[in-house]
Amino acid sequence: MNNFAIQSLRTFVDGAFKPATVLVKGGKISAILDFEESPDTEEFYPIGNKMLIPGLTDTHVHINEPGRTEWEGFITATQAAAAGGITALVDMPLNCTPVTTSASALKQKLDALEGKLWVDCGFWGGFVPESLPELDGLLKAGVLGVKSFTIHSGIDDFPMVGREDLRAAIEVIGEYDVPYLIHAELDSDEPRDADNQRVIGESYRSFLESRPKKWENDAIDMMIELAREAKARGDKIKVHIVHLSSAEAIPAIVRAREEGISITTETCPHYLTLSAETIPDGSTIFKCCPPIRELSNCRELWRGLEDGIIELIVSDHSPCTPHLKKVDSGDLETAWGGVSSLQFGLPLVWTEAQKFGLAPEKIIQLMAENTATFAGFGDRKGKIEVGFDADLVVFDPDTEFVIRPEIIEHRHKLTPYEGRSVFGVVEKTYLKGQLVWNSGHPVGEARGEPILRDVS
Ligand SMILES: [Zn+2]
Repeated sequence: MNNFAIQSLRTFVDGAFKPATVLVKGGKISAILDFEESPDTEEFYPIGNKMLIPGLTDTHVHINEPGRTEWEGFITATQAAAAGGITALVDMPLNCTPVTTSASALKQKLDALEGKLWVDCGFWGGFVPESLPELDGLLKAGVLGVKSFTIHSGIDDFPMVGREDLRAAIEVIGEYDVPYLIHAELDSDEPRDADNQRVIGESYRSFLESRPKKWENDAIDMMIELAREAKARGDKIKVHIVHLSSAEAIPAIVRAREEGISITTETCPHYLTLSAETIPDGSTIFKCCPPIRELSNCRELWRGLEDGIIELIVSDHSPCTPHLKKVDSGDLETAWGGVSSLQFGLPLVWTEAQKFGLAPEKIIQLMAENTATFAGFGDRKGKIEVGFDADLVVFDPDTEFVIRPEIIEHRHKLTPYEGRSVFGVVEKTYLKGQLVWNSGHPVGEARGEPILRDVS
């Protein structure tokens, strides 16, 4: 099936839904015809009123292979992606072992994924205080950008960075036209004495209070300061704040941009579709860092998307084993922090956007075009355009379904969305013209490819 056409009354072209026929040849989009024109192809698929949209890119996924494949893995993660209409992922440099902080660790990851990718996959590199000598080599090995944490990452082999480490990293990364991704939380609380330790236990409210908005706001302010310094020195650095949860930080980001500082941000379906008020105590599947906050904060995040300040919606799919998630004990304090949702981002956001008034066109831009551009492959993915990869999704926005464990493709069937009813069924996913997902099942074979930055 190398030469075919799909015709839809709602094809997403040039930022709008319109009647059109998309021709695919040799894995690329070869032409976009008016609805009435008859295509000269071997196969022709009219899909009527169902939408034809570009494959999404999710730039924030923890696949955890090699080393913690019992948490997730390339096969299960990329099949879940295909099920969710995602044709490109970018994998995080943790929680795999070894963490991806050197060219040799990246090589081990590339060796581990052979024959396992059902969609395309790029890689963020990691920077930790000890890895400065490795950073340049890692960038030259083809990672799409670099990530650091300003707080404990959850695993000891990916330690946090401080101001001086950040300065040093900015100097190196600034030489490359790639983003520096920051998990921005800064533990700025006064140290507590032994009699006055915080107890979280099963209480969601206590957990929420233990990671206040101020931690995010302070870390973002610090990154803006460092970027300002770099700019004054003549260094170019593109700072990117991952998984923005505190809407209070939005004004600082706006002001920094007005100053000419390059700073971008993303948020995630869980911050947009869940709120602290409705999270039951002891339900560890909702635990993530930074935490899911109040409904009023959630509304502000939607406004940030509408205003174009938050440019990406990505999953931050961060699974672990049920044992580490402490599902049985309900202990929020010690449970692994991370939400599993890779497969359901599009229907979740699609459904909730109707409530918050965000246009469907905007959702596609936030989850396909902007994410692909951010990852550095916006010249061939993220849009239905002639010459682009034929990464296409047949999407039925009008059909409702219930998220049930039986339909989950992730390794562990744990998600805070279980039982939730959503609109938007991904019927078919094509990766470079090849059908990889069809009516509830993966089809064909693992045809995805690693995406490395062109360093020539
Ligand atoms: Zn993450």
